[in-house]
Amino acid sequence: MDLFEYQARDLFEKHGVPVLAGAVATTADEAFEAAAKIGGKVVVKAQVKVGGRGKAGGVKLAEDAQDARTKAAAILGMDIKGHIVHKVMIAQAAPIEAEYYLAILLDRSNRTFLVMASVAGGMEIEEVAHTAPEKLAKVPVSSVDGITPEMAKAIIAQGQFPADVADQVADVLLKLWETFKSEDATLVEVNPLVKTSDGKIIALDGKVTLDDSAAFRHPDHEALVDHASTNALEALAKEKDLNYVKLDNGQVGVIGNGAGLVMSTLDVVAYAGEKFGGMRPANFLDIGGGASAEVMANGLSIILGDPDVKSVFVNVFGGITACDAVANGIVQALELLGPAATKPIVVRLDGNNVLEGRAILSAANHPLVEQADTMDGAATRAAELAAK
Ligand code: GDP
Ligand code: MN
Repeated sequence: MDLFEYQARDLFEKHGVPVLAGAVATTADEAFEAAAKIGGKVVVKAQVKVGGRGKAGGVKLAEDAQDARTKAAAILGMDIKGHIVHKVMIAQAAPIEAEYYLAILLDRSNRTFLVMASVAGGMEIEEVAHTAPEKLAKVPVSSVDGITPEMAKAIIAQGQFPADVADQVADVLLKLWETFKSEDATLVEVNPLVKTSDGKIIALDGKVTLDDSAAFRHPDHEALVDHASTNALEALAKEKDLNYVKLDNGQVGVIGNGAGLVMSTLDVVAYAGEKFGGMRPANFLDIGGGASAEVMANGLSIILGDPDVKSVFVNVFGGITACDAVANGIVQALELLGPAATKPIVVRLDGNNVLEGRAILSAANHPLVEQADTMDGAATRAAELAAK
């Protein structure tokens, strides 16, 4: 489960990571109240579970409470990469002198945790990772040893943090590790970690992902679940009698027939996605035995309605319902959806009447549809498209 920034901020505060005063608001009036309580300049920040809010205009400085009301009114309701802003965080403003980057994450491919640290933090950190990787220190951390104070110092040295803040940053890293470990997180990221003009180190923006598999150890995490937004599509699917499950941290929508095939499709997508910056399945929908055009249209529209989905992988093994019927279903579904279908769809058909099925899709020649011969090939292509 991904947390909102204000929830991450509260967790940080609980574990001693330095943060500024902040409160969440759902209306402009509440934003006014919160800003008046904090006093002075504040920052109004869209609460959406997607990166790059700043660049999208979702982070604005406000001079006073009145200004915070105006800024909040402008930000509430905004659409940031398909996420509608329902809440803003009002945070005490900081005079920023430098922006750094610190993160701890679960590195599945290397079976370790990984610390990333950089003095080139801020909104361009992804750029830095690509164009100047030497400015981003990456240090593996074993789950047995964790981060010791000595290690924290060494990591901060490797990240080339200036001497005047090194001790403070190392201390923040230890507290982030404490947060990561004791909350069973798979990601704790601070960007920017700032140095203020009076030399203090403060976590100004936080991103936290909690490990759902550990939820049983954390009854208090239930209160962090965002029921309002997660269940809309699941409710719609239920209404249409479809077996749809939303997954966290994914980008590839998955449609398949049969639970076994769908489960293995999820694994194949996650594996293929590692080559494209960690693309993962965003959801899955089992269309079961009968893939009529209507079932396909309902399924596709639900999958495409998930704002996290960047590409779709339709993986069907023709059995009782042969591939030609499935292919006709896809073609008719896309006709039904019309302009509502906007994301690339990779289709892999195999089994009964596969050649007929592929021929039908080829003849339809829909601009969003690509075919792949194998499950691995299709997963790779879908992950590649999602990463674009
Ligand atoms: P993101 O774009 O979603 O990562 O949002 P952030 O919370 O990281 O904010 C984006 C940028 O806004 C930061 O990198 C800062 O440059 C700026 N910003 C955020 N909070 C403050 C603040 O309190 N004061 C000032 N001056 N700038 C801020
Ligand atoms: Mn940020």
